[in-house]
Amino acid sequence: MTIYQNLIAGEWTGAEAVENINPSDTKEVVGLYASGSAADTGNAIAAAKAAFPAWSRSGIWERHVILKKAGDEIMARKDELGALLAREEGKTLPEAIGETIRASQIFEFFAGEALRLAGEVVPSVRPNIGVEITREPLGVIGIITPWNFPIAIPAWKIAPALCYGNTIVFKPAELVPGCSWAIVDILNRAGLPKGVLNLVMGKGSIVGQTMLDSPDLAGITFTGSVGTGKRVAVSSIEHNRKIQLEMGGKNPMVVLDDADLSVAVEAAANSAFFSTGQRCTASSRLIVTEGIHDRFVAAMTEKLKTLNVDHALKTGTHIGPVVDERQLKTDTDYIEIGKKEGAKLAFGGELISRDTPGFYLQPTLFTEATNQMRISREEIFGPVASVIRVKDYEEALAVANDTPFGLSSGIATTSLKHATHFKRNAEAGMVMVNLPTAGVDFHVPFGGRKGSSYGSREQGKYAAEFFTTVKTAYTLA
Ligand code: ADP
Repeated sequence: MTIYQNLIAGEWTGAEAVENINPSDTKEVVGLYASGSAADTGNAIAAAKAAFPAWSRSGIWERHVILKKAGDEIMARKDELGALLAREEGKTLPEAIGETIRASQIFEFFAGEALRLAGEVVPSVRPNIGVEITREPLGVIGIITPWNFPIAIPAWKIAPALCYGNTIVFKPAELVPGCSWAIVDILNRAGLPKGVLNLVMGKGSIVGQTMLDSPDLAGITFTGSVGTGKRVAVSSIEHNRKIQLEMGGKNPMVVLDDADLSVAVEAAANSAFFSTGQRCTASSRLIVTEGIHDRFVAAMTEKLKTLNVDHALKTGTHIGPVVDERQLKTDTDYIEIGKKEGAKLAFGGELISRDTPGFYLQPTLFTEATNQMRISREEIFGPVASVIRVKDYEEALAVANDTPFGLSSGIATTSLKHATHFKRNAEAGMVMVNLPTAGVDFHVPFGGRKGSSYGSREQGKYAAEFFTTVKTAYTLA
């Protein structure tokens, strides 16, 4: 089998490789992917540093053309890349193709942004002096990504980093190197100069840690667990480095008595179980007022009966497998914890076998949960959700906000008054009314509050805040 290698200083390199396994069929090896060393990572950082002066001064048209070419190729290959994504991560083929399209759109967006770079010219408070405010690239950016969005998250970090003139050392998650390799290959062929984008696949404890320890990264943008995010933060203080962290979520979906029941059930089922519940924007706390509670639980249970859990590439699959054995163990451990804590298992909870050996788990719904239980406070990151019964809107809002996280917060209601109040008072970076907590646009800011995020927002024009540094220049006329 050929080895998909790392790209360092414009050269494909690496003989050490690991198998990329399909979670829908663990007999299938998706490919062999290089596993980089600390020395590889050091070389990649040195290459990105050497490439920075020229790339930071590159023309906006050159950047536009490269980003546009990449976006176009991803779109042209959406079915093939979507299938690769579904095979390595396990989300269903339609979800995987949707994510691939989104990656393409992100490159298209930042291709456009490259042509819209601008500053400000303002008068000084002193006579005969002019003031210019400009944005300059930051330097070498470290990009560390998780396994749950194998193409969209790399896209939404790589595209703005390049657009604003930075160079990159990119370390994707061990479980899903395939899509990352593909977009680096596409960008490399689209004409990026050597060393501008370096790919080092491999272990977090080796490649990732070497990046954290380097004084040469001007910024690190990270999406992953709270624990690793904290390590990124602590190491970065020492190096005076800018950081952008997206970590966990424990997103609430409030359902009020006046909700349209079918809208509420569609939003809750999507939020909790699509993409196998493996989205940081997934909702695992369904906070339901008592007048609609029993009808909601009955309708949710009926809905869950209709969802097929199966091979990600099979037509008619609604929920793919869990990503790997470790995550499956976490999910089943939490199901046991929920039972012991006194929540009632209303649906699912069992492993299932299919034609191919994979990590198949039924969508799992608890009822009679409280917001103090561990299943309501800790991120599970699987197809497991609990219903928390509350008296009224005021209690629902208080419970929704009573969490260490603050990424996305949803409400199902037909009341303008409650929807408006919720939008203003939900302690989250993103609020959804009559929509799932997950599923966001590519051209507007993404990010959270409290324990979910740190640093400035990702995506849309707000991305400039992280990927640039502002200069204020004064000139005597
Ligand atoms: P998860 O538990 O969901 O895999 P992680 O935070 O462990 O979340 O992984 C997110 C990304 O962080 C992955 O690319 C992983 O390899 C990387 N990573 C893990 N440990 C470290 C570390 N010590 N330093 C830097 N990156 C790391």
